[in-house]
Amino acid sequence: PLVLGIETSCDETGIGIVRGTTLLSNTIASSMDEHARYGGVVPEVAARAHLEALQPSIERAVAEAGIALSDLDAVAVTSGPGLSGALMIGVGAAKALAVSLEKPLYAVNHLVGHIAADLVAPDAERLELPTIALLVSGGHTSLLHVRDLTTDVELLGETIDDAAGEAFDKVARILGLPYPGGPEIDRAAVGGDPAAIRFPRGLSRASERERHRWDFSFSGLKTAVARWVEQRADSGDELPIADVAASFREAVVDVLVTKALDACSERGVPRLLLGGGVIANRRLRDVALERAADAGVAVRIPPLSLCTDNGAMIAALASQLIMDGRAPSTLAFGADSTLPVTEIQVASREAA
Ligand code: ATP
Ligand code: MG
Ligand code: FE
Repeated sequence: PLVLGIETSCDETGIGIVRGTTLLSNTIASSMDEHARYGGVVPEVAARAHLEALQPSIERAVAEAGIALSDLDAVAVTSGPGLSGALMIGVGAAKALAVSLEKPLYAVNHLVGHIAADLVAPDAERLELPTIALLVSGGHTSLLHVRDLTTDVELLGETIDDAAGEAFDKVARILGLPYPGGPEIDRAAVGGDPAAIRFPRGLSRASERERHRWDFSFSGLKTAVARWVEQRADSGDELPIADVAASFREAVVDVLVTKALDACSERGVPRLLLGGGVIANRRLRDVALERAADAGVAVRIPPLSLCTDNGAMIAALASQLIMDGRAPSTLAFGADSTLPVTEIQVASREAA
């Protein structure tokens, strides 16, 4: 099926077009620069940017795919989770498009979309199931057990406070670096010693593991960095910024990779899929690949343009739903900022 997907859950306006499992176009307009001076995504600003970017993005995606809107078999949209106002812009646009084209509409889950992204990756290996999936971005840090993409996705754990990308952004701020923090910390960490400072690995103590075996926590780590930096400032010594950045990054990477590989081993699933914008982190990819090789786990990392928020992953998930024979969503659905991962497709708000 030929599907156009609309993604507006955060600060990327993503329009993707896929035919079956073939990616035809994937345009991404980001309002990230507009959020820079606030140090994080501002919901109102993001929603307004979606409103402005949607129409030109759709036109561009259609042109790049070399199709006409009337060729589409279906329209797909992210229903949640994400920022309510931002989601509503995409949902409204998708409904308008589907109604005017008289095409079926599929409202889908953003997190499951991140996994579906791998269905349209350009290489032949692609998504193999079952798999453990680790999704790390500015808005979420989730560990999933995916048995079937359209019927059986289990949430093992998630962050109980800050998301991993959010931790990078907040620590960058503490270190006086601009937003977004991830690439800045990467740059600052060059030449730094990752073992210089032993920052805490959230929720990995034996006492915490019973309740939070697969959950993450990064706010304690952020506070530990802030305290360390303050103490150093009080002492009057120069801040060893490369060591702090490298040690902070190591703490994040260590806890992410350790829990993900533990999940692979406990669940007897020798596959790990990585997704989300934090995957841009070279150190995270290197440590994951290295330790997974030792553990006999195969790692999948889709190209970065499919890892960050995008419309192709939403189209890919809907395309799979259609190929699995699933009926479209009714027009009664809305935006659900806390949509659970078990709700892969939203049939209607009433039924939910
Ligand atoms: P969502 O949470 O809905 O997926 P988002 O916009 O918050 O959306 P992404 O756009 O996928 O998330 O990723 C942005 C986040 O990734 C930011 O927090 C940013 O700091 C982080 N990031 C980007 N590059 C790197 C990097 N090299 N290392 C670590 N974090 C990074
Ligand atoms: Mg983003
Ligand atoms: Fe996302």
